[in-house]
Amino acid sequence: MNFNFNKELAENYKANSQKIRVMSEDWVVENAYCVKCGNKLSHFENNKPVGDMYCSKCREEFEVKSNKNELGKKIFGSGYNAMMAKIEQGTIPNFFYLNYSKENLEVKNLLIIPKHFFTKSIVQARPPLKPTAKRAGWIGCNIDVSSIPEKGKIYIVKNGIECDKKEVLRAFNSMIFVQNYKIEPRGWILDIIKCIEMLDKKEFTLDDMYAFEAVLKLKHPNNNNVRAKIRQMLQILRNDNYLEFHQRGMYRILD
Ligand SMILES: [Zn+2]
Repeated sequence: MNFNFNKELAENYKANSQKIRVMSEDWVVENAYCVKCGNKLSHFENNKPVGDMYCSKCREEFEVKSNKNELGKKIFGSGYNAMMAKIEQGTIPNFFYLNYSKENLEVKNLLIIPKHFFTKSIVQARPPLKPTAKRAGWIGCNIDVSSIPEKGKIYIVKNGIECDKKEVLRAFNSMIFVQNYKIEPRGWILDIIKCIEMLDKKEFTLDDMYAFEAVLKLKHPNNNNVRAKIRQMLQILRNDNYLEFHQRGMYRILD
């Protein structure tokens, strides 16, 4: 894997943001791969409304967000309404987050956030643009990546080192079961996974999970039986081989 951007591509563009966009998208197509099947990626023909690139083998779609900063708590998203509609309709692409060095124009980190980790609750509306702005009234969004489980942040390049491709494909495909659930249960499943990750242990009890009752109630105020929901979600995660019920009252996370 060559970590350098192709700087020649930037020559035809004036705005720095355009230069970075062109170079980073080119870099991903030339060096990264489809995280579902491992195939090489292709650019969309111009003006395709969703996504920047796709896999011609399995048809997964991808979009690239590049930033000179490492992944923080939020990603600057595009239009709020469009984003919510894509989540609702299930047309949201997988997101590559590419962190590059501004000085050397080379890739430092590349990670993928699979599309099934995007729920409405992580999309936050920004204030509308001022009346003086070119696109007055337009509402952008922030994506709260801090509430996405770590399982939904899969590194392909970490600190300038390429990660094992087999491991990347395995990590992506091990969570693909989440796609089988509709938006509402999917939000619950991801919230429960986030709680399990916060426990930071391989084995845990139902009581460990009940400790999150108040936090989960805040996220899902309309639910009046959070404990029952926790049990139901653990059952789902068990059926989908995310965890096993291993001895009296103990759950164990499967690799
Ligand atoms: Zn593919």
